[in-house]
Amino acid sequence: MNVPSLERVKLLNLLENANIGVVIHAHDTSIVYANPVALRLLRLTYNQIIGKDALDPQWRFIDEHNNTLPVDDYPVSRVQRNQQPLYNEVLGVVDSQHQDISWFSVNAYCEGDLRDGHGFIVVSFVDITDKKNLFSFEDILHNTQDIVVVTEADNIDAPFGPKIVYVNKAFEQLTGYSAKEVLGETPRILQGKDTDRDTTARIHAALKRREPCQEKILNYSKTGQPYWLELHIIPLKNRFGEVTHFAAIERDVTLSTHYEAALEQRNSDLRTLKQELQNVLNERTEALRQSNTQLLRMAHEDPLTGLANRKAFFEQSQQQLARMRRGASCLAVAIVDVDHFKRINDQFGHDVGDQALLHVAQALRQGLRQEDVLGRLGGEEFAISMLCPSRLIGEESLDRLRESIAQSCAEQAYAPLTVSIGLSFAENQTPLALEALLKQADQALYQAKDAGRNRLCCFSPHDGEP
Ligand code: GH3
Ligand code: MG
Ligand code: MG
Repeated sequence: MNVPSLERVKLLNLLENANIGVVIHAHDTSIVYANPVALRLLRLTYNQIIGKDALDPQWRFIDEHNNTLPVDDYPVSRVQRNQQPLYNEVLGVVDSQHQDISWFSVNAYCEGDLRDGHGFIVVSFVDITDKKNLFSFEDILHNTQDIVVVTEADNIDAPFGPKIVYVNKAFEQLTGYSAKEVLGETPRILQGKDTDRDTTARIHAALKRREPCQEKILNYSKTGQPYWLELHIIPLKNRFGEVTHFAAIERDVTLSTHYEAALEQRNSDLRTLKQELQNVLNERTEALRQSNTQLLRMAHEDPLTGLANRKAFFEQSQQQLARMRRGASCLAVAIVDVDHFKRINDQFGHDVGDQALLHVAQALRQGLRQEDVLGRLGGEEFAISMLCPSRLIGEESLDRLRESIAQSCAEQAYAPLTVSIGLSFAENQTPLALEALLKQADQALYQAKDAGRNRLCCFSPHDGEP
């Protein structure tokens, strides 16, 4: 550098022509010089500015958070007080007439010794209003409800990487860590025993590929309190397109996760309850079906012998009658009554009487064909309806049945046991109702009893007539 040639540069000319605002204050902060750019930037005339000091009411400066600066914090006051230079301080100047703000980047230093009353304070500034946004993105970032964590993109491996370079207020509030505590640390300090290792592995793999990723992860606060985070990680690139940082934008979803789990539990409980109700319903339906079947059987079955009861015998015999009318020669209707049954009861007891009735029922069933209808009318009285080719054949086969019953009982303790049978017939020519046929059989039975029992009598319309 050639110093002698510099000495010939007129410094005042330099100040007058420089594209930077320069204001020179005396040691007491009163202004002794302002260059044209300074007057233009401050929107003041030379006369408005010369001689004014820091206390002059026309100044209104604000900081980056829009707070009015106290006089002691003006750059000129600070240099006067500390005798130290200031670099690139951002300052807003409020225009007293229009109330709009110009933003300046300010440098200031002192020239000479202020204490002997001869020094100066030189303040220079450039307008950065265009560069400064109407609002601060950093403000938004810092104050958003979402958690923001920025890490370096280098050295992402455990245990120390990736390094945290920024956290916002929401991070501090949720985790309990101050920004100071976590800067330089790794987000791994937030993981704990129940943090899913597959999730952290997926995040690590995405970071390694320098790709965005989205996960739900369990983290722990400084005091060990677990919380669920939904996080989006975005790679941040510099102007050369290289990924230098990762920004994680995170939201606390502990509550909704809790509600989701509770809802799932409730749904599962409801499913179980529904299944249990279904089982109970199935059991009840089956029990009802069984009791219906039993009721139906009880309605048609004689409980002692299992034979058709009186009602069922009538129903089945009606069908026999219908079949007979469709072509069979005749239908034999018989009443079978045990002889002197009272004697068996009296002599051997009611239970043995029951056994004897059961035995007679079995002997009757065995002696008849599948298609013959057999029932118990009540007490020791049974009834049969059977289709037969002729009266004679019907009469003979029923008489054989009577004999076989007496024989089958011959060995029993209550022997002898015989039966009497009253018989009537329905033929095509005699379309009698079943009730009438049974009545006739009953009459014939009386005849058999009267005639000495252990025999079969057929109804004859002329019998008993005078
Ligand atoms: P008969 O030769 O004139 O028919 O004489 P009997 O004794 O057989 O006739 P009676 O009508 O006098 O008596 C029938 C008895 O059958 C009376 C009753 O106590 C008995 N009895 C009715 N039902 C049952 C039953 O289910 N079990 C038992 N053990 N006895 C019954
Ligand atoms: Mg009887
Ligand atoms: Mg009897």
